[in-house]
Formats: sequence, structure tokens, C-alpha cells
Amino acid sequence: MKVKCLIIGSGPAGYTAAIYASRANLAPVLIEGPQLGGQLTTTTEVENFPGYPDGIDPFTMMEDFRRQAERFGTTFVSGIVTKVEFANSQEPTANSHKVWVEDTDLYEADAVIIATGASARYLGLESERTYKGRGVSACATCDGFFYRKKTVAVVGGGDTACEEANYLAGLCEKVYMIVRKPFLRASDIMQQRVLNNPKIEVLFEHNTLQLTGEGKVQGADLIYRKGEPDEQLRHIAIDGFFLAIGHHPNTELFKDFIARDSEGYIITRNNSTQCYQPTANGQQLIAKGIFAAGDCADPHYRQAVVAAGSGAKAAIEADKYIKGLG
Ligand code: NAP
Repeated sequence: MKVKCLIIGSGPAGYTAAIYASRANLAPVLIEGPQLGGQLTTTTEVENFPGYPDGIDPFTMMEDFRRQAERFGTTFVSGIVTKVEFANSQEPTANSHKVWVEDTDLYEADAVIIATGASARYLGLESERTYKGRGVSACATCDGFFYRKKTVAVVGGGDTACEEANYLAGLCEKVYMIVRKPFLRASDIMQQRVLNNPKIEVLFEHNTLQLTGEGKVQGADLIYRKGEPDEQLRHIAIDGFFLAIGHHPNTELFKDFIARDSEGYIITRNNSTQCYQPTANGQQLIAKGIFAAGDCADPHYRQAVVAAGSGAKAAIEADKYIKGLG
């Protein structure tokens, strides 16, 4: 099937791109992917997206985004993109980009907007899955507010973990940091903020064995210096368990066609959503007609409102590109 504008991903970036692209008469097709509504739907309530003064549950919010895109003519395809073959911008004949859904359905698009998001890393504990949305979160900015005056734990020792621990310390009674090494990996300034904050207790050389609680997180079983002669078990009482052990952008599928940074985030042109082709010598060649929006290209902010803004930018740029094709 030939389309002008194909959007991959159904989070705030993808749906916003669809609203703008459909209003520009591009009749976009949006491939919804494995997690309808994107990463946002792993949180319990959204209170920081402008326009929802009383907060909103993320499913309703994403359904609103979707209906708005539908109203202007977006076509939705449920399925997973399994393969892409983007045209090489350096070849004069190249003009359309190929995208396969579930290996079988081929879409040929003038422009592709990649909005595949990122996934938070989890420890992989069974109890983490049990309490997801009931005390387990991977976003302090999104969920911290629900733990005012409570006790929480943050896992990780990097800049994100320190930032989240500091943020939570502003809301909570007490914050534990569970750090597997005997030191923090974070930058000095972030370390100092954590270590000087009387509400934060850093538990170095601790790992989490399991979370406990009746229907929601009420505690965590930890192990100190596992395998060492002074190994010890410890239980902490907590109301919330925040993962801050990194994110991985969902961009693997595009690696042969789009330039990514060392962590897999898509590199976009300054202040634009335009992507680059990967080159052996690091030379920056624009990947014509390929745009990236949202967390797949954003290692810094990871906020729905930022993702939505970049989705709008991507659609405006795709529109300009398509109209330029004549
Ligand atoms: P990161 O630097 O990769 O740190 C991840 C942390 O999680 C590390 O302490 C790591 O432990 C720990 N970890 C990983 N897997 C674990 C596991 N299975 N169990 C327990 N702990 C585990 O990730 P990040 O903090 O998200 O930062 C990503 C990038 O963004 C970094 O370059 C960072 O500097 C940057 N960043 C900057 C700022 C800022 O400047 N304000 C804010 C946020 C992020 P080990 O140390 O033992 O490996």
C-alpha cells in the first residue's frame, strides 16, 4: 500500500504527529505497535499534562489523542513493524521508504515518522510485575506526587537515580537509594546533592530480592554484599519502588538506516526531527523523508508533553518535505 506519511508508534508523539499530519491532508497511516498508548500507559495517573487540571488516567488520555487523530482522517493499523527498508537519500531514484507490518503487509511511504518511544529498564523480578502500577514505577516525575509524606526507594546509582531521589525527597518523608556498587556512578554534583540530603539514605552494595505487600508495595527484601562473608539480608518498609536503572530506546529495527547514538537514541538535526543516515566515517547525511519524535530520540526529558511537541514538529517537517516532492 502506498501512503504519503507513515507514523510508527502510538504514544503522545505518534498520535500528535497523526493529528497534525491528518490536518495537513497527508492521510497518515499510524502503526500502533505492541503497547497501545505507549509508555505513558504504564503509569497510574497523569497530572502534569497541560489541559487536564484534575489529572487523567493515561488510557483515557491516549484514547482522547487517538480520537482526535481519527477525527481528521488518520488510519490506524494494529500490528508490529517487523522490518524496514528506508531509501538511500544519496541514490537519485530513491523516493519511497518500505515498512513491513507483521512481516506480510508492506507500506511504501514518502515520509516516515518514527515515534517508537523508549522502555524503562526493570530488574526482572516477578514481584516487580505483580506490583506494577501499585507501588512500582519507573518515573518519579510522573508518579512521585502520589507518595507525598511516604517512604520510597529508588534503585540505581546514576544521574537519573540521583535526580529522582532528590525530586522524591522534596515530596516524601524518606527516600532510600538502593545501589548495587559501593559507589555512585552519577556526576559529582548529583552525588553531593544526594549525599547531603538528610531525607535520603543510600544503601550501597545492596540488591533487591523481592517486593512484598498486601495488594500493593509495602516493603522490599534486600541483600547486602551478596556472596561475601559479611552477606546480610535486610527488609525495608516502603510504599513506593522507583526504578532508575536506565531506559532503552526502541530503535533497533532502524539501525541500518538511521544514525543513532551510543545508547541507541536516534540522532536528529539540531532543533529539528530530521534524521541522519548512518555513515562509516561519521559524516552527517540527511535521511530524506525520515523524522523521529518523542522518547526514541530524547535521552533527556522523557515527558509526554515534550514528546507531543516533537510529534507536531515531525508532522510539520514531513508535510514540508512531501509538498517539496511535487
Ligand atoms: P546510567 O548512567 O546507565 O546508570 C544506571 C544505574 O543503574 C547505574 O548506577 C547502574 O549500576 C544501575 N543499574 C543498572 N542495572 C542495574 C541492575 N540490574 N540492578 C541494580 N542497579 C542497576 O543511567 P541513567 O542514570 O539513566 O543516565 C543515562 C544517561 O543520562 C547518563 O549519561 C547520565 O549522565 C545522563 N543523565 C544526566 C542527567 C543530568 O545531568 N541532570 C540526568 C539524568 C541522566 P552500576 O553503576 O553498577 O552499573
